[in-house]
Amino acid sequence: MQPFEYASPKTLKEALALLGSSWNDAAVLAGGTDLISLMKDEVMTPKRVVNIKDIAELKGITKTAAGIRIGALATVDEVLSSPLIRASLPALTEAARGVASPQIRNMGTFGGDLCQRPRCWYFRAGFGLIARHQGKDLVAEGDNRFHAIFGSGPAKFVSASSFGPALVALGGKIRIASATGTREVDAAKFFVAPASSDMREVDLKPNEILTEVIVPVTGAKNATYEVRQKEALDWPLATASVALTMKGTTVASARIVLGHVAPTPWVSEAAARAIEGKAVTAETAEAAGKAAVADARPLSMNSYKVQIAAAAVKRALLAAAGVKA
Ligand SMILES: Cc1cc2nc3c(=O)[nH]c(=O)nc-3n(C[C@H](O)[C@H](O)[C@H](O)COP(=O)(O)OP(=O)(O)OC[C@H]3O[C@@H](n4cnc5c(N)ncnc54)[C@H](O)[C@@H]3O)c2cc1C
Repeated sequence: MQPFEYASPKTLKEALALLGSSWNDAAVLAGGTDLISLMKDEVMTPKRVVNIKDIAELKGITKTAAGIRIGALATVDEVLSSPLIRASLPALTEAARGVASPQIRNMGTFGGDLCQRPRCWYFRAGFGLIARHQGKDLVAEGDNRFHAIFGSGPAKFVSASSFGPALVALGGKIRIASATGTREVDAAKFFVAPASSDMREVDLKPNEILTEVIVPVTGAKNATYEVRQKEALDWPLATASVALTMKGTTVASARIVLGHVAPTPWVSEAAARAIEGKAVTAETAEAAGKAAVADARPLSMNSYKVQIAAAAVKRALLAAAGVKA
């Protein structure tokens, strides 16, 4: 690990003043479950680390007029155990449940989960987000078991956040502060597929801090379903988060978002169209799952993910509608 300066401000204003104009100037430290390993591997080498854990205004989960406010420093465990979230946003509760282990859920924060860097082994080995070396596309020509099955750009890693797809399905808004003001971004626009390795995979600048997320409570039935290779200490192979506005027993409108299959949470309009106007049954949910993966473009080693993603959509729809199949 390279030497760095450490600061532990007590207010957001102080923290923002300690950030710089380039990613190398400073890095925000929340729970540290991702940042510390990136620094140990020298994938990130900030000159200054700004610990935000003592900033009270970034904490808490509360009900507001605009929806449920989740502070950036709310831990994954706080999200998992929040009755407020479980009552109306179970898609987030289920996403939190999947984050393993208990230690990670205790230390890892909601904001940190959304900003965590991709798990792509070429990125983690220092080859950048696009993972090219001596003219070779390392992902396309290498071990791409856990990479993207959607997307046409050069980035082939998968977005690592399990909360991301749920927030996109639920219409969450992400609030971001810099020394010059605040801004709000739709969760759907926060995640970005970078066109080059010097871009970031989220809409965040080096001098900004994600402060909180607002999730509207609309009454939409929602759920997340994950498929994992193993129970502990890993990320899912594929997930689906859905939010359904019902008219009686029929789906009036749907948001269906796949996770861990593309560089961003992957919104499937085709799956939504397949289920809208219908009741959720094993058959209609399966058809929506098939529609969701119809345009998947798996790499040489990950076509197994296509069926898994289709199954995740089916299971998430059944769970949201409360249908046993
Ligand atoms: C074994 C293991 C299994 C895991 N499984 C899953 C899983 O299944 N699903 C899943 O979604 N995640 C999973 N994770 C990831 C885990 O959820 C994240 O590591 C954690 O949430 C990151 O939060 P943190 O507070 O520790 O972030 P940190 O490590 O402190 O920061 C992570 C990154 O985000 C930036 N950052 C943090 N907070 C902010 C902020 N408020 N504003 C701006 N930038 C910020 C940091 O600068 C850094 O780049 C797993 C992690 C491990 C180690």
